[in-house]
Amino acid sequence: MPTIREIYRSKFGQPPNAVSQAPGRVNIIGEHTDYNGGFVLPTPTPLHTRCAVGRRDDDVLRAWSTARSTDSIVDVDTLAPEAIGGWTDYVVGILQALRGRGVDIRGIDLAVDSDLPLGGGLSSSAALAIAVGRAILALTKAKIDPVELAKLVHTSENEFVGAHVGIMDPLVCSIGLQRQLVLIDCRTIEVRYVNMPDSAALVVIDSGVRHANASNGYNSRRAECERACAALGVAEIRDLGRQAPPELAALDAAVQRRVRHVISENERVFGVVAALERDDLPAAGRILCESHASLRDDYEVSIPELDTLVELATATPGVYGARLVGGGFGGCVMLLTDRERSEQAARQVCRAYRERTGELLEVYLPKLGKRAGVG
Ligand code: ADP
Ligand code: MG
Repeated sequence: MPTIREIYRSKFGQPPNAVSQAPGRVNIIGEHTDYNGGFVLPTPTPLHTRCAVGRRDDDVLRAWSTARSTDSIVDVDTLAPEAIGGWTDYVVGILQALRGRGVDIRGIDLAVDSDLPLGGGLSSSAALAIAVGRAILALTKAKIDPVELAKLVHTSENEFVGAHVGIMDPLVCSIGLQRQLVLIDCRTIEVRYVNMPDSAALVVIDSGVRHANASNGYNSRRAECERACAALGVAEIRDLGRQAPPELAALDAAVQRRVRHVISENERVFGVVAALERDDLPAAGRILCESHASLRDDYEVSIPELDTLVELATATPGVYGARLVGGGFGGCVMLLTDRERSEQAARQVCRAYRERTGELLEVYLPKLGKRAGVG
């Protein structure tokens, strides 16, 4: 495998001025809590996006990524105000944001290489933007603290790229430490680090299902939460505390279930933190399974494929618990496993799934290569 410096040199004919990397992230627990002012518990992935940059004295971005299987270098005028709808928007977005902060940077030559799946729910987008931001800071010797960098990436992803996402992804990619979980209060952006027990490892398996209506489902869940808040006279479900008020019973049954999920999910975040802090992986695993049941029955964002995967995973030796991860309606499941047995467990779940459904799965974590989960 060539290094990012070698990749850059082969594309641009000279060594880069700076290199950097940033991880992706997995959210252990705290699903659909972020936009309700609640809590999440993500951790950076051991998989990274790397980039190498060289300074230019015009305003052009010349960018190349190993994830794009074309040979061509993308040429972009970074003074152009419009996003073009391609991956370089993430790069131009952070470049412009840094300029806005007074960082002395014009155009750059950029090479990118990543271990992360793109669009796989491990936040390759934030990894890319944070890695580019770090490289530009290294190149210019400008100082911007990591939380500030995450906020710039967040604003740029929302306002320039046009993806409406929360602060969690760039924040974890920017401030996360390997084998540490980051407990984030999504209302105040306060964070606390929590140790991942040495004997634990996470597995992420992609169901391969991408539902076209995922964003409709997401938007309608958000709307239901807003309706609940308006009816109950609070700004966010977070304000209801640990117990739903009696007036909730007057709302329609689906809205009641949504609120029950959010309240109980916030409790589960703290339950997992407490379990991990006392090295009680079985207890943490049970709470992950409860989270899945709540996402399936109360929030109603699961699908049969994810339910099957969770069911098979929890019956596999070395797996403490599992749940769908991400917004739902497709995507991935995450397993909390015994570190020694995580690879074996991942393969076994894939094999069992294939026997039951005939479908091949991709394992992102631990990285087993395309469809290597079956063998
Ligand atoms: P996720 O963040 O879950 O991987 P997103 O849809 O938010 O999914 O981001 C994926 C997009 O980010 C890609 O379609 C691409 O535009 C961009 N991207 C991320 N990593 C890379 C990379 N290594 N090379 C090129 N583009 C990338
Ligand atoms: Mg993303």
